[in-house]
Amino acid sequence: MFGIPIEYNEPLFRPPSEAYSLIFQVTLGCSWNKCAFCEMYSSKKFKVRKFEEVKSEIKSVSNEYKDIRKVFLADGNAMVLSSVKLMEILSELNFNFPKLNRVSAYALPKDISSKTKEELIELKNAGLKLLYIGIESGDDEVLKMINKGETYNSTLDGLLKAREAGIKVSVMILNGLGGKKYSEQHAINSARLVNEVQPEFLSTLVLSYPYGEDHFIKKFNGDFIKMTKMDLIKEMKTLIENTELENTVFRSDHASNYLVLKGNLSRDKKEMLDKINLVLDNPDYADLRMEWQRGL
Ligand code: SF4
Repeated sequence: MFGIPIEYNEPLFRPPSEAYSLIFQVTLGCSWNKCAFCEMYSSKKFKVRKFEEVKSEIKSVSNEYKDIRKVFLADGNAMVLSSVKLMEILSELNFNFPKLNRVSAYALPKDISSKTKEELIELKNAGLKLLYIGIESGDDEVLKMINKGETYNSTLDGLLKAREAGIKVSVMILNGLGGKKYSEQHAINSARLVNEVQPEFLSTLVLSYPYGEDHFIKKFNGDFIKMTKMDLIKEMKTLIENTELENTVFRSDHASNYLVLKGNLSRDKKEMLDKINLVLDNPDYADLRMEWQRGL
C-alpha cells in the first residue's frame, strides 16, 4: 500500500497477494537468516520490535485506515514471536480495525511447531488466518545443502499443525534450488511433502542470484550444477506430475518464472502438463514467458 504514514525499516518484503494489506513490522529481519540462497534480510540484524512501538504505529494509522480488512505482519518470520506477544498484537489490531478479516505472516515450520495446538487455535480465532511458508524443498539433502534449518519431517510437522488449527498455509517451493544434480529428488520429494500437507496455496519461484552465482555456490554445501531454462521447466514437470492434490490454488507467476501457470491442482493438472510439454517440445517458447491460466 502506498502513502502509509509509517516509517518502514527497509528493505520490506511481502507476498504478492498482500499488495493491498496494511503492513506492520512486528519483527525486523529473519531470526534464522542463514539460508544459502536468501539475501532478503542479510542487511538486518534480527530484532523483536517493542510492543509499545507497534501499538503506537497501529494507533497512528487507525483513523485513516479504519476500514482495512487485511493486515500482514512483517518481517521475515513474525510467527517466531511467542503466542502471548502475537495475541497482544492481534488484540490491538482487532480493537483498532473493526472490519479486520485476515491477518497473515511469513513463518518457518519451527515457529509453528514451537506453539501448542491450543495456542494456534487461539491465534486463528483472533484473526491469524494465513501463513506463508517458504519450504523451498521437500528433499532432506537439498534442505541440508542450503542450510534451511528444517527437514522434511520438521516442515511436515509445522505445516500440519497449522492446518489442524484451521490456519491456511501458502507454501513456496524454489525451482532449481538443488541444481541439475539434485533436481529430480528435489521435485519428487517436494511433491511428496505438499501431497501430505494439502496446502490451500502453492507457488513456485525460480532460484535467483542477487549477489551473483559464485556467491551462492560458495554457500551451497554440495555440488551445484546450474540449470538451463529447459532444465527448470523439466523440473516443474516432475513436480506437477508427482502432485496428488485435492484443492490447491497453484501459481508459478512470479517474474522469475519462465512459464507462467495459474490454476487449481489437481483440477488443472493435465492442462498445466500439456502446456509444459508444449514448451519442452518448442524451446523457443521458454523465452516468451508463456502464460496459462484458468479462472479459480
Ligand atoms: S528463513 Fe526465509 S527469510 Fe530467513 S534466511 Fe531463510 S529464506 Fe530467508
